[in-house]
Amino acid sequence: MALQPGSTIGILGGGQLGRMLAACAAQLGYRVIGYGPAGDNIAADMCVDFIEGGWGDTAAISEFASRCDRVTWEFENVPLAAVEVIPEALLAPNPKALGVAQDRLAEKRFVQELGATCAPFARVDSEEDFARALEQIGAPGILKTARDGYDGKGQWRIASAHEAEGVRFPGRACIYEGLVDFETEFSVILVRSAQGEVRFWDSSANTHKGGMLVKSTLPAGALIEGQVEAARAIARQTADALGYVGVLTLEFFATANGPVFNEMAPRVHNSGHWTIEGAATSQFENHIRAVAGLPLGGTQTRFPSIEMRNIVGTDALSAHQILSEEGEPHLHLYGKKEVREGRKMGHVTRVGNEVD
Ligand code: AMP
Repeated sequence: MALQPGSTIGILGGGQLGRMLAACAAQLGYRVIGYGPAGDNIAADMCVDFIEGGWGDTAAISEFASRCDRVTWEFENVPLAAVEVIPEALLAPNPKALGVAQDRLAEKRFVQELGATCAPFARVDSEEDFARALEQIGAPGILKTARDGYDGKGQWRIASAHEAEGVRFPGRACIYEGLVDFETEFSVILVRSAQGEVRFWDSSANTHKGGMLVKSTLPAGALIEGQVEAARAIARQTADALGYVGVLTLEFFATANGPVFNEMAPRVHNSGHWTIEGAATSQFENHIRAVAGLPLGGTQTRFPSIEMRNIVGTDALSAHQILSEEGEPHLHLYGKKEVREGRKMGHVTRVGNEVD
């Protein structure tokens, strides 16, 4: 059943994704209440109320849920124990997606079973496992913490077996992956309704630096365009298998041998920010529409050429200058109070017939 105008949507997490989701929810006539641990909760600027509480504070989470007609999240590392406090009927997407996506091993196994190709990987729970994984998979590779990593954090690149001697097992569950020799990266972003209708946005070419997204561009180029169909098939099966409702993202490497699955995010995604100005309906609006039970909007790309760039760290201090540049840049600043090196502060999207 569609949520009536004036209903309340709860969002777990207080970051920029929540902020952009809340703006769309407000546009559609909903009230938004946020919940998350104390901190720079920039989503709060867009919410009628934001409750600061820990993920372990079950009483506060229950009280938050009791005020909501539906609850979603903007952050995939919300502990399952916190989500379990919320009546299942209120939640969208299905929390099963959180359980899978919070663990790099679980998500690789899940998507591999549906037919995806992954980099060779091994579970690493000890120094001995690490040595064995290096022997089996070889170097170069990447040791990643199985949980809680994002934007390249909790990752150690290993160029050679010799270099691995300098990398110690960090004492928590990890995964060791062979390094993928890829040409470029892309993500498949889809929205799925409660009735099982699935729509895809076009896949942009994504450029990363130090594990963090720098820019997304469309058109994505022939290599990605040739691999999108296969990647979409995997993404659709993943969404169907999870009974997913909302926006789901799967990230892939485009290699000479086809798409290689890297990871999934059970939420709206940085590589989909271009959809705000560049698509018929943005990822944020369609996520709200899906979880609210409204008809999905069109996902078609509206311009021949689109570029989204992240504004990171101190670049934000001069970001307003972007507005004086030609080509009608669309500036988004997230209102973060503390500027830190490597922190995503905003993004800028340029759309047009040609993007330089
Ligand atoms: P992740 O946190 O897994 O998304 O990794 C962040 C970025 O690091 C990816 O977008 C890639 O640019 C790079 N990366 C991660 N895993 C691999 C891999 N197995 N092979 C090559 N590059 C990788």
